[in-house]
Amino acid sequence: MMGDSHSKLQQTKKNSISDDYEVKHSEVLGLGINGKVVECYEKKTGRKFALKILRDSPKARREVELHYKGSSCKHIVQIHDVYENTYQSHKSLLVVMECMDGGELFTRISERAEGAFTEREAASIIYDICQAIKHLHDKNIAHRDLKPENLLYSCKGPAGILKLTDFGFSKELSSSKSLQTPCYTPYYVAPEVLSQEKYGKACDMWSLGVIMYILLCGYPPFYSTHGAAISPGMKKKIRNGQYEFPKAEWQYVSEDAKNLIRGLLKTDAEFRLTIFDVMENKWIREHQNVPQTPLVSAQILKEDAELWPEVQDEMTQALQTMRVDPDVPAMKPMEIANNRILNKRKKKP
Ligand code: ADP
Repeated sequence: MMGDSHSKLQQTKKNSISDDYEVKHSEVLGLGINGKVVECYEKKTGRKFALKILRDSPKARREVELHYKGSSCKHIVQIHDVYENTYQSHKSLLVVMECMDGGELFTRISERAEGAFTEREAASIIYDICQAIKHLHDKNIAHRDLKPENLLYSCKGPAGILKLTDFGFSKELSSSKSLQTPCYTPYYVAPEVLSQEKYGKACDMWSLGVIMYILLCGYPPFYSTHGAAISPGMKKKIRNGQYEFPKAEWQYVSEDAKNLIRGLLKTDAEFRLTIFDVMENKWIREHQNVPQTPLVSAQILKEDAELWPEVQDEMTQALQTMRVDPDVPAMKPMEIANNRILNKRKKKP
């Protein structure tokens, strides 16, 4: 499995990127934790692309490999070329991607006129995100960093297509189904491995629930009382699944939408919906027929614009915690989660 993805990375170009592209180092599209993203132009066509510069490392290679594997989906940012070059005297991976000129998902929604954004449109956006997740989960890849700033539009205006990017935390899960059957757990597989398998994908589903919630009302389901780092209070809220659908914003939102969110924000990852469940869900499957109820999201996102960095920060931290400690999204009491005997008993029919 890794062998086949490795061969993909071996297709990287070893010649200098400047043979083929004009790189605009001063035109920075974004700064990330793993590197910067700048504009570049393909010499052959004059087309504009985005270039992500990563210091070469096994982690960077994993990111590029998994992004490459995912990038045949319409709702995942395409990789056009990968170069292995020395950049600023460091061995680097230069990833040429399609340029996403339409900006971030929620920026675009906040620019909508009051009440013009409807539940049907929200359903179609969630449907698009679901297609990206399904594509990855089918390939046994968990993205694990599904959050608002990683959802970008390809261009401004109605032609813009929403796409997922940033595979910096994605993980390839062992595809062996035998590891996952409920009635037979091979003794040689460590419990951490089993839970990684399950929680990697469940983490994406939790993210989907949070994004869907924000789309429908303009604010996140979980608040910490005072910003900054993820507070113990916020952790506890997530763990206990403490969120509500306040009447002011939610009274006209369909029960189908609320039920889907409930299924996605299930505290116990075992009971959380999978992407396969969601694709079967009526609100998703028949997203074109969802009621065109006007939503307050655009207005609230605009009003609370100064709180948005905090919302992003909290989601980043919640995801970070989840990746290290699956019991946070699993939100099971510690003693039970770690009690092997109880786990074993639960597995018996
Ligand atoms: P990191 O993994 O370091 O966080 P990202 O891949 O998220 O980096 O990229 C950082 C930022 O660069 C993004 O938030 C976005 O603003 C911008 N960016 C990334 N990819 C593209 C792209 N294909 N087109 C335009 N801008 C992009």
